[in-house]
Amino acid sequence: MTPDAAPTGLRALVVEDEAPLAELVSGYLRHDGFEVEVAGDGEEAIRRARTLDPDVVVLDLGLPGIDGVEVCRRLRTFSDCYVVMLTARAEEVDKLVGLSVGADDYLTKPFSPRELVARIRVMLRRPRTGVPRSADEGAPIVIGNLVVDVPARDARIAGDGVPLTRTEFDVLAALAVRPKMVLSRAALLEEVWGGGWNGDEHLVDVHVLHLRQKLGDNAELQRYVRTVRGVGYRIGTGQ
Ligand code: CA
Repeated sequence: MTPDAAPTGLRALVVEDEAPLAELVSGYLRHDGFEVEVAGDGEEAIRRARTLDPDVVVLDLGLPGIDGVEVCRRLRTFSDCYVVMLTARAEEVDKLVGLSVGADDYLTKPFSPRELVARIRVMLRRPRTGVPRSADEGAPIVIGNLVVDVPARDARIAGDGVPLTRTEFDVLAALAVRPKMVLSRAALLEEVWGGGWNGDEHLVDVHVLHLRQKLGDNAELQRYVRTVRGVGYRIGTGQ
């Protein structure tokens, strides 16, 4: 076995009640330089997350006691870490879409731990702030009642902060910094999830759905994030 990578200072919490799978995933993450803790149920996951302050949580949906959805909800009250949710069946992802759970990514079992770690790596590498693209870059972007301050990673509606996850904010920022452009799902994946992401473009729709819910929008009322049929999304400024 090759020696583990040098410590990266990154912390991961693996929440999985199947001990062999938890060990497998933890092993891959440790090998990649992560400090890893494992929780076997949801209550333990919340306790450990509070003390570990993880950069990423790998969260199984099916857990004894409180399930992964509830763990994610509670986690989101105090952490904006990346959450990758593991589901037993592909159909569960569709159910999760409607729940506004706040996970950043989903993987269906069985999955390759190597792919999981690669995706986490990409997520953690992607830039946290929007790359300046215009002359008055860095200035807050105003879309009706919504003000997006990209460098501060802050979104407000009529002055009230909107509690977006990192990924939701990244999607919003990617659109907001290009007010005249329609971004395809592929372009958003590239921008927000990073190059080489070979997952489902449906993931973009999941995050747009959650974003709209938090902004008080929906598919009919597209004040902030507009669907351009057959193309993708753009920010909702004027016409
Ligand atoms: Ca399980």
